[in-house]
Amino acid sequence: MSAACGSDDPSSTPAGPPSTTDASGSLRSVDSTTVTTPPVSPALSASSGWPATSSADPPAVLVLTKTAGFRHTSIEPAAAALGAGLGTAGFDVVVDPDAAHVTDQGLAQFDSIVLLSTTGDWLDDAQQAALEEWAAAGGGIAGIHAATDAEPAWPFLEDLFGTRFAGHAAVQPATVVIEDSTHSATAGLPTRWTVTDEWYAFTRNPRGSVHVLATVDETSYSGGAMGPDHPIEWSREPTAISGRMWYTAMGHPDELWADPTFAAHVVAGVAWTAGV
Ligand SMILES: [Zn+2]
Repeated sequence: MSAACGSDDPSSTPAGPPSTTDASGSLRSVDSTTVTTPPVSPALSASSGWPATSSADPPAVLVLTKTAGFRHTSIEPAAAALGAGLGTAGFDVVVDPDAAHVTDQGLAQFDSIVLLSTTGDWLDDAQQAALEEWAAAGGGIAGIHAATDAEPAWPFLEDLFGTRFAGHAAVQPATVVIEDSTHSATAGLPTRWTVTDEWYAFTRNPRGSVHVLATVDETSYSGGAMGPDHPIEWSREPTAISGRMWYTAMGHPDELWADPTFAAHVVAGVAWTAGV
């Protein structure tokens, strides 16, 4: 396996004009029906560990797409799919390609954030501190695909997700086995779900520190490296370090984000981290 996600992927050049940023690259909502700057949500509740979203304010999600390492071409279609799906579900969605909102004041507007294949050393020390403080006060975090392949010197990331990216097999179809179909992210998915993706392996099995929602059957593809128990998607109820956490290692291919079943399941996972 290669050490860097997608390093053996020949399509490493950026896709065409991103659908989620304007020509200047400035911040905007992916959903033209939502406002660029969402209303300020009530402060996160440290006592309950839950975002204190009132019925008057729609839940707000910040989608972070900055990369300092490998950049997936699927970031743009993924951000568009999340903006559309969450927007339809009544969320305010802001896509932030520069991590400009990762400040105490910026994060306070949001119930949940998405680390969308963020890679490399993409946050400075002050941003890491702001994110940790916001998360510890109950902020929800959703991680997608390469979110576990980032910030190698930031212990919080491994504490949050329960493990780190170690390598991957080639993009190919494999069987995802749904282990918990009662979670909103995995409800309605086939128990044995065939998905074409780039199958991640991890530095250690996160089971025990997270709630495993799905595994990938290593007998269904070539290049598996974790054995018969290979978690591929998981969640965790609020802890001392964050509100709800949900992670999927899937989402590498651009085409996957045009699959309504796949996109809807990610939207549901992100919504769950916002307490919905
Ligand atoms: Zn990838």
